Amino acid sequence: MERYDVIVVGTGAGGSGVANRCAKAGRRVAVVDDEPYGGTCLLRGCDPKKVLVGAAELVDWHRRMDGQGLTGDAQLDWPALMRFKRTFTDPVPQQQEASYQKLGIAAYHGRGRFTGPDRFVVDSTELESRFFVIASGARPTPLGIPGEEHVKTSTDFLDLELLPRRIAFIGAGYIAFEFAHIATRAGAAVTMLGRGRPLRQFDADLVGRLVEHTRSLTVDVRLDAAVGGVERAGSEFRIRFRRAEAATGRTGASKDFITADLVVHAAGRIPKTGDLDLGRANVEADERGAVKVNEWLQSVSNPKVYAAGDAAASPGALPLTPVGGHQSVIVASNILHGNNKKPDYRGTSSVVFTTPPLAAVGLTEEEARRKGSKIRVKSEDTRSWFSNRRVRETAAMYKTVVEEGTNRILGAHLLGPHADEVINLFAIAVRHNLTATDLSHMIYAYPTSGSDIAYMV
Ligand SMILES: Cc1cc2nc3c(=O)[nH]c(=O)nc-3n(C[C@H](O)[C@H](O)[C@H](O)COP(=O)(O)OP(=O)(O)OC[C@H]3O[C@@H](n4cnc5c(N)ncnc54)[C@H](O)[C@@H]3O)c2cc1C
Repeated sequence: MERYDVIVVGTGAGGSGVANRCAKAGRRVAVVDDEPYGGTCLLRGCDPKKVLVGAAELVDWHRRMDGQGLTGDAQLDWPALMRFKRTFTDPVPQQQEASYQKLGIAAYHGRGRFTGPDRFVVDSTELESRFFVIASGARPTPLGIPGEEHVKTSTDFLDLELLPRRIAFIGAGYIAFEFAHIATRAGAAVTMLGRGRPLRQFDADLVGRLVEHTRSLTVDVRLDAAVGGVERAGSEFRIRFRRAEAATGRTGASKDFITADLVVHAAGRIPKTGDLDLGRANVEADERGAVKVNEWLQSVSNPKVYAAGDAAASPGALPLTPVGGHQSVIVASNILHGNNKKPDYRGTSSVVFTTPPLAAVGLTEEEARRKGSKIRVKSEDTRSWFSNRRVRETAAMYKTVVEEGTNRILGAHLLGPHADEVINLFAIAVRHNLTATDLSHMIYAYPTSGSDIAYMV
């Protein structure tokens, strides 16, 4: 039986930081992962995706500028792009492993599970620890439909050797939008099969504009399709769905299907805790499988256990890498010094990396009104603004939500070039209670998309 001070399950954004900090403080630490070390973001999520987004964006920009100083058509070379992508992902596990070794962290490969409140087993190796950190991430939500085995995951999509001609995404969340925007610029015929209002956590008006723009790229965005099954028909797949009645949201009798060469799951993710035998350690989880934690990110039912990242049920936390990173700092401090730090999620930005990107921070107009806040809302189509006209982007819009009286920025919602960067300036404002006057009096670098902020508040 190996004994540790801290065992961390998961080597992603939530787990790595805890392991490193505790090891640097002299604790005996072990990490466990059943996938190559590095976690979802670096290997199967944010980073590889953004490499593909970069190339797709270049194609789009090139096409927008056609006849305005540029000629010819930019083409995406998918296999070459994949090779470029691998220059980012391939080295990660080895680098992570070396870094753990340097810090004296014991590294276990394999699927682990609890065998008692302070006992854990990885394959057949038994471990004991004073503390555990569950940072086991998330996995695609089971679809529960016939033919589910034919549906590929986001991980598979990011590793495709060749891009199939027709691709169907089940779902209309951020992964579906991002991948659809990449695939259509790479020449695939893309269908998104969503059900109900897409991207619900983003501003409805900006989402509406993004949907319209996505359709203009020839992506078939369906928002009334309840997928009922997937069948293989030779080398292609037939995806059956029922159309919801738009007015009621009920699924009607009208059955329909489309065919595609690849079907990708983009219908949400749930915490990956099912294999961990949480019950053996008396660790309570919510109905989605996320570990129930208190304000210190500590299990409500077993004080030896903490949770971070996508596997933690912490109110106000979005399943995003920087949130996992923030939580890992909090958890490390609470393990090392006793419970002394609480997470603070104010001003968490989130982005849909379409071209152009959609970005948000703080409250939406709907949320602010629901809370009864007295607000001032400003919103405009900004396609005619210099920063957007210069790059010939027509999908450009913003909405800001400011509190009457205090003049504080409560929320900002951006669609357009550099929205993914500009949102970080608004995030500083939301987190640090800056006012509209503070933002409008800034002396920004010009001409930049950031300098447009002065006109948005
Ligand atoms: C396609 C995609 C794109 C994304 N894009 C973005 C983005 O642009 N920006 C952003 O902020 N976020 C993005 N995310 C979300 C982000 O990747 C996650 O929020 C983040 O990686 C979560 O980190 P984590 O540490 O909680 O879990 P992970 O990084 O998933 O690490 C958990 C690890 O634990 C392992 N594990 C689980 N159970 C066990 C077990 N029983 N035994 C051993 N090991 C186990 C898992 O296999 C995994 O390797 C994206 C996600 C996906 C899927």
